[in-house]
Amino acid sequence: MKIARKVQNVSESLTLALTAKAKQMKKEGIDIIGFGAGEPDFDTPDHIKQVAIDDLKKGFTKYTPASGIPELKQAVCEKLKRENQLDYTPKQIIISCGAKHSLYNAIIAIVDDGDEIIIPAPYWLTYPEQVKAAGGKPVFINAPAKADFKITPDQLKKAITNKTVAMILNSPSNPTGAVYFKAELEALGKVIVEKDIAVITDEIYEKILYDGAEHYSIAALSPELKKRAIVVNGVSKSYSMTGWRIGYAAGPQEVIAAMSRLQSHSTSNPTSFCQNASIAALTGDQSNIQMMLKAFDERRRYMVETLNKIPGVKCTMPKGAFYVFPDVSGAFTKNIQGSMALSEYLLKEAKVGVVPGVAFGDDNCVRLSYATSLENIKKGLERIAQALK
Ligand SMILES: *Cc1c(COP(=O)(O)O)cnc(C)c1O
Repeated sequence: MKIARKVQNVSESLTLALTAKAKQMKKEGIDIIGFGAGEPDFDTPDHIKQVAIDDLKKGFTKYTPASGIPELKQAVCEKLKRENQLDYTPKQIIISCGAKHSLYNAIIAIVDDGDEIIIPAPYWLTYPEQVKAAGGKPVFINAPAKADFKITPDQLKKAITNKTVAMILNSPSNPTGAVYFKAELEALGKVIVEKDIAVITDEIYEKILYDGAEHYSIAALSPELKKRAIVVNGVSKSYSMTGWRIGYAAGPQEVIAAMSRLQSHSTSNPTSFCQNASIAALTGDQSNIQMMLKAFDERRRYMVETLNKIPGVKCTMPKGAFYVFPDVSGAFTKNIQGSMALSEYLLKEAKVGVVPGVAFGDDNCVRLSYATSLENIKKGLERIAQALK
């Protein structure tokens, strides 16, 4: 059967594929240490689970309004007000099947054929594929390690053409862990307003910050920016709820309405009995986050320090999320050129799974997640050090 051109160009999620491969090898009894995880290794807190259990027992198992229940939208409004200094009404909120789904709805809602979307590289590998699926064209701006993986306003200005409709911002970043400072966001915001483009801001890692780093939503910096912003977030990363599939977006009412129409004809509502539980996540006990951060922070420090002792590996200290993104180009050899070859070598020789940076737009790097135990990290990094000797 013929496959549509815009979908032919969409590649499989390499991170999901590699995680699946490592899991499969483990199942076959091969002793694999996986650094591919894109999700916290902690369980969903019990007080959140209990709400879903109660809802199931009560029979809250039918269709809900397609764009989410009003109570959850209200809770999202209050969360955005309280934590991000953002004023939205429930009509400016959509609840989707994960933040990824909110992003997809947003991109479909604003991209026409041939429209350009600017994506800073390294990027989360889903962004360009979603843009392509929408018939748009991803345009990349390089932000290498020596620029702290952040783009400058000048770079942004130069990348904007008369086809540009939006840029995607992801701070804290997956895969680099980079966090934009407020002044940097203000400077980028100036260009966004001046050139009158939209900004899709993916804030899914907003709570996963270290060394006193602070998160600012670019949408909150001025009314002009808020008008042009679609804020995307969700419960997956902050509350270890990746499998529940609840994310949300906030933005101008006409954009959210368009996204909601689209969602009403694609997935319909996000899972009924996950919605009240998400209210519990947003409004209930937040102590799980501190516990998670403490573990992540210890692993992060150990990982960066240990990686930097391996010849050919250079790793900057990330300020957010739960990934390190070391430059491994110094370890390339005549036979092992590029991040893909190195990752394959590490999987085969060291029985360690890392994600090649080429998937994120930087072939000098690999991504390692520290959403795994310190014990695994110690063992895995030792193996990498041995294999790269
Ligand atoms: C994990 C992740 C998401 C999506 O999370 P959902 O589980 O779909 O809510 C979005 N953006 C980035 C950068 C992520 O890493």
